[in-house]
Amino acid sequence: MTAPALSIVVPCYNEEPCLAELHARLTAAARGAVGEDYEIVLVNDGSRDRSWEMMRQLSATDPRLVAINLSRNHGHQLALTAGLDLCAGERILIIDADLQDPPELLPDMLAEMDRQTADVVYAVRRARAGETAFKLATAKLFYRGLSKLAEIEIPRDTGDFRLMSRRALDALLSLPEQARFIRGMVAWVGFRQVPIVYDRAERHAGQTKYPFSKMLRFALDAVTGFSTAPLRFASHFGLWLVAASFLILIYIAVGFFSGSAIPGWTSLMLLVVMLGAVQMFVLGLIGEYIGRLYIEAKRRPLYIVSDIAGRAAGAHPSLGHVAHAAEAMATSDSPGGNGSRPIA
Ligand code: UDP
Ligand code: MG
Repeated sequence: MTAPALSIVVPCYNEEPCLAELHARLTAAARGAVGEDYEIVLVNDGSRDRSWEMMRQLSATDPRLVAINLSRNHGHQLALTAGLDLCAGERILIIDADLQDPPELLPDMLAEMDRQTADVVYAVRRARAGETAFKLATAKLFYRGLSKLAEIEIPRDTGDFRLMSRRALDALLSLPEQARFIRGMVAWVGFRQVPIVYDRAERHAGQTKYPFSKMLRFALDAVTGFSTAPLRFASHFGLWLVAASFLILIYIAVGFFSGSAIPGWTSLMLLVVMLGAVQMFVLGLIGEYIGRLYIEAKRRPLYIVSDIAGRAAGAHPSLGHVAHAAEAMATSDSPGGNGSRPIA
């Protein structure tokens, strides 16, 4: 069996009232774009409603539907990962089950991918209908804060709704970390990534599956996954404190020499200020090491190769990893095309 041209991957948690409409609209969008050459992968993330029964029924009538049942609720990002791991398509569309992201954007996304020879087309939200003021405000704060902190550029106002090429997906799947912030990980992978703007609709039915506690955890995964800035905070703060303590020293000295200080105050203040500054700085120093330990512990691939031109690159002894890639390329005669795989 050859790989389908398109896989559509959807994580679902308690989405029973959305599934029939979702299936109909996804099918229509996929048919219009690629004919019969597609698959729909629904992942049931331990739903407590009848989502799984619905999925089984749908898959009995539709040979293009693959339904995956997780053992329990693993959370949005892990459910999505399961679907991405198991899908087979040459191009992959990630979309939410609640139809907030319109499947009808698919032809535009495919066209944009071809036109720009991009590996990722990510959908940027222009407007968001039917969200609470609280959700809008926290989302805005989150995306602005994250882009300040993160060590790579993660597109703002962008969810997981996106179209990816097979090689970009394979590269994404080579990142082994547990705490997954997928939209950031896709940005990390690189290749050519282009935006497409859209208006986000209201939920088709049901409630958001992201209560505040899950949102907070998601935000923490994002920040800690892509930034060690919070760990560095102590060392910066410590340095400022050292600088400030010189000013305080002058104040203490004036008190001492003018004789206005109570006996004992001077030595006590000196200890408090100096020790505080030194402790902060040392804490920060430890933070720097822990940050590096953390990055190492993630065991991400060191780089992702995009293209290699010219067989001669393989002859260079110091480019061992490239030689390896060039060999792989020799067996596929479309450099940079779908035949190539990222070298992790
Ligand atoms: N989801 C999931 N597992 C969870 C929570 C959510 O698979 O534990 C799915 C959910 O079914 C939906 C997507 O993740 O397809 C996004 O969730 P939701 O629409 O509730 O988030 P919001 O749009 O409110 O941020
Ligand atoms: Mg939603």
